[in-house]
Amino acid sequence: MRFALSDNSNRIEATPGARGTCPGCGAVMTARCGTKKVWHWAHKGRDHCDHWWENETEWHRAWKNQFQTDWQEVPARDEAGELHIADIKTPSGLVVEFQHSAIKPDEVAKRSMFYGSVIWIVDGGRRPTDRTQYERMLASNYPQRFDGVDIYTVYYRETRLLQEWGSLGRIIGFDFGGENICLLTAAQNMSRYLHHFPKSEFVRLISNGEPLPKVQFQQPRQRGLRRRRRL
Ligand SMILES: [Zn+2]
Repeated sequence: MRFALSDNSNRIEATPGARGTCPGCGAVMTARCGTKKVWHWAHKGRDHCDHWWENETEWHRAWKNQFQTDWQEVPARDEAGELHIADIKTPSGLVVEFQHSAIKPDEVAKRSMFYGSVIWIVDGGRRPTDRTQYERMLASNYPQRFDGVDIYTVYYRETRLLQEWGSLGRIIGFDFGGENICLLTAAQNMSRYLHHFPKSEFVRLISNGEPLPKVQFQQPRQRGLRRRRRL
């Protein structure tokens, strides 16, 4: 983790010889400051208290550091007392999770339920074939302009990443490096709607508590309202 708590309950970063406790479980943490991994805090002599926690990469850190520090690594418990630490949690309760390693779709669904309002940012650079598949898919598609945004309508199983993430019903950002993320913000039957969106704008909107523009998954309540209006 990037942060531990000092004796004065301040959030402190890992530096050689520093001492701190876990903001989630209160356990003593060791500052790991080597040359291979990003400097981080580890639970002393035992596993992480959040079994969902993923070892941090530079990619995680670079994303998290776009947001203010007190929104980073926010502990949350569900009614059963289960503890998880959100990568980013805004004051309105929106969670942004950055996923680098492989994860099964049912596991993503479970975590999404836990967090409630969550946007997933997926590292598209982990498997080299993902970028190739994505570029091929976009090259064989003509985007349609809608409200000033070029939207690609693609088949829901066209790439491996879409097979894994495309049916979650949540906003997903695929990060293949560069200035933009490829946002999946809406789905209908077997179609998935993608558009490129600047990372800086994504960070700005989330930081300001504003919704992502144009194409959005409808909230279940709004769908219900719309259905009633039609009757
Ligand atoms: Zn802990």
